[in-house]
Amino acid sequence: MFDAEQKMQFLFALRSKGVTDTRVLTAMETVDRGDFVRGIFANRAYEDMPLPIACGQTISQPSVVGLMSQALNVQPRDKVLEVGTGSGYQAAILSQLARRVYTVDRHRRLVREAKEVFDRAGLVNITAFTADGSHGLPDQAPFDRIIVTAAAEDPPGPLLAQLRIGGIMVLPVGQSDAVQSLIKVTRTDAGFEYDELRDVRFVPLLEGLGQD
Ligand code: SAH
Repeated sequence: MFDAEQKMQFLFALRSKGVTDTRVLTAMETVDRGDFVRGIFANRAYEDMPLPIACGQTISQPSVVGLMSQALNVQPRDKVLEVGTGSGYQAAILSQLARRVYTVDRHRRLVREAKEVFDRAGLVNITAFTADGSHGLPDQAPFDRIIVTAAAEDPPGPLLAQLRIGGIMVLPVGQSDAVQSLIKVTRTDAGFEYDELRDVRFVPLLEGLGQD
C-alpha cells in the first residue's frame, strides 16, 4: 500500500501533467497501483512511468491513465467498455467512476491475473473477458463510454457502431512503431466528431487471441 508521502508525490505528478478532474484524482488516490504491478518493478508502482507486465505488455503511465479517464468524462450511471485490460489498473480506475465496466484482453493470463486483483480489492462492478476487443462486445452494446488502451491505425468500425449516441470513445491511433495520437470521438445524432488530444505511445491493437 502506498504511504502518505508516496501518495502525495503521486497526486502531485498527476496534477502537474494536467489531471485536474476531482473524481479522477480521488479514484487514483483510492486505487493502489501497487496492486497491479508484480515482481521486480513493484517498488516503482508510484512513479509516473509505464512499466512492464506479463505477456510482453505494459501498464500505462499513471498520468496517461488520468488524462484518458478525464477525457472520457465518465458519469456515475455509465456502462463502459475497455479494450486492453493489461494489468487491470485502468479498469479499476474506471470502476470508481462508472456503474459498470466491461474489460477485454486477448491474453488469457492477463485477464486471469487482473480478475484476481479485482476480487481481492472488492471491485465488483468490473467484468473481464478474454476476447479480441477490436470486435467490441456486441452482447453488451451499446456503451456510454469506450476506451481503447492499444493503438489501431483507425478507430475500429465495430467499436464506433457500439458507441451510444451522445457517447464518447478515447483511443490512441497511428502506426505501432511511431508516435500515435490520442483522440476523442464523440457520437452525435449527425455522426462522429473527432478531437486530437496529445501524442502518446501504446502497444499495438492485435488481431485474434494471444498464446497465453
Ligand atoms: N489498460 C492496461 C494497459 C494495456 S496495454 C492497464 O491499465 O494496465 C494494452 C493491452 O491491450 C495489452 O494487454 C494487450 O494484450 C491488449 N490488446 C492488444 N490488442 C488487443 C485486442 N485486439 N483485443 C483485446 N486486447 C488487446
